[in-house]
Amino acid sequence: MLCIPVISETTEQALADMEAAGRLADLVEVRLDYVKNPDLPRIIAARPKPLIITITPASENGQFRGTEAERIALLEQAIDLGADYVDINLDCAERDRLIKNCKGTRVIVSYHNYNETPQDLEAIHSRIQATGADIIKIATRANRLEDNFRVLAIAQKSEKDTIALCMGELGEISRILAPLHGAYLTFASLSPGRESAPGQIPAETMHNIYGLQKLQPGCTLYGLIGNPVSKSRGYILFNRLFRRSRMNSLYLNFPVQNLDEFMHSIAPRLAGFSITMPHKQAVMAFLDDIDPLAKKIGAVNTVVNSGGRLIGYNTDLAGALKPIQARTPVAGRRVTLLGAGGAARAIAVGIIAAGGKLTILNRTVAKARALADELGCGAGPLADFPRTETDILINMTSVGMHPRVAEAPVDTALVKNMTVLDGIYNPEKTLLLQKAEENGCSSISGLEMFITQAAEQLRLWTAREADTGLMREILTCS
Ligand code: NAP
Repeated sequence: MLCIPVISETTEQALADMEAAGRLADLVEVRLDYVKNPDLPRIIAARPKPLIITITPASENGQFRGTEAERIALLEQAIDLGADYVDINLDCAERDRLIKNCKGTRVIVSYHNYNETPQDLEAIHSRIQATGADIIKIATRANRLEDNFRVLAIAQKSEKDTIALCMGELGEISRILAPLHGAYLTFASLSPGRESAPGQIPAETMHNIYGLQKLQPGCTLYGLIGNPVSKSRGYILFNRLFRRSRMNSLYLNFPVQNLDEFMHSIAPRLAGFSITMPHKQAVMAFLDDIDPLAKKIGAVNTVVNSGGRLIGYNTDLAGALKPIQARTPVAGRRVTLLGAGGAARAIAVGIIAAGGKLTILNRTVAKARALADELGCGAGPLADFPRTETDILINMTSVGMHPRVAEAPVDTALVKNMTVLDGIYNPEKTLLLQKAEENGCSSISGLEMFITQAAEQLRLWTAREADTGLMREILTCS
């Protein structure tokens, strides 16, 4: 079940927020410690869905500023008025008396730790169970990704209804995975910025991207590892694709600082994952096998877990080569590659392997020369473009990317009679591509490259051919 906490400052606002939350959630929690002079009878009478009343004391990061006696009196009133649930903190001195007098109200006894996920989770679970709570709640801060799985294991093993989740950015995944581990409920925010605890994901995202209500236990896990990962759109693309294809699969973002720890404790749980900066090279040391082209590129952006063996690939290369080859052959053609960074390197290896006659031009000429010497091709500064005969032009610099959309890496008046790929997808149509099209060139956008490489990832992970039209629709509508 999904529960949305309401953190409104007035009774009127709480009533409006409860109604909005009721449309998205199975349960609504009113954090009464946020509401000034709460009109509890009105709040309880107006509940659109089963209601949890929680009054978190200041000592537990709550907003309640009254005395403990006043807090207990409000909880008693909530029970008298027939609230469906009350949340009582494990350390509450009046806990046992409240539990004894709870009438028809179900009692959640909760343990919060805003600093860490302690080692003795099982002992904490047993302590709460011994109180006679109807529902056990454990919420701790994740300082490592592994903490999520330790907390979720508590919900999975428990015979008693248990809410178990992690807080903080590293704990976000626990909120998505909790229902799949048998947790009684998970929390989501009413909208961005209205989180009652750090790491809560907006309810709309839980429904529309992660498809929370449609996921089944045994769900196959994929994800992205990197640092940071928050800017990536892969989780939107893959999760929407999984939902539309009725696949019981999830794609999660893993902010990974410690690659060694991730590869040993989390990677084996995943069927496959994408890798972004800064781990594309370092991940190679942990893999059982690496595709020869990825090895030559010296970077892996995709890992497949094949029966426990982790195999690395680089789909950036296919992302560029496939759309080009759909328009023109590469073998024997003069290919000018602008840029000598990570993406350019992957494409350069692919162009040489496909028989293209490659010239690499880059702002920092030494980088272009080093790559060209390694691959046995030509190199020079960007200023050499007018003297470089070109059938296929590939831009793998960031020139022209938002917000500097009025810039192009080379003189666009010279971009004629060629096939042009621009790796940039923000904007989808860069100045370079606009001018190339005006000059009659065949053009390929960075979005097409991104979709093609993602389709390649999906094929490696699932052996399914991706619907690239659907992928485009998902990315352009989100
Ligand atoms: P990177 O390793 O940081 O390389 C950046 C490249 O851009 C370098 O060659 C750099 O030249 C050049 N550059 C940056 N600012 C410049 C400027 N003001 N003038 C001239 N050259 C400049 O990045 P990357 O990962 O290779 O990515 C490069 C581009 O490819 C980005 O636009 C990225 O969005 C795009 N890309 C697209 C996809 C896709 O699927 N569509 C996938 C991967 C990458 P110096 O060597 O002189 O610094």
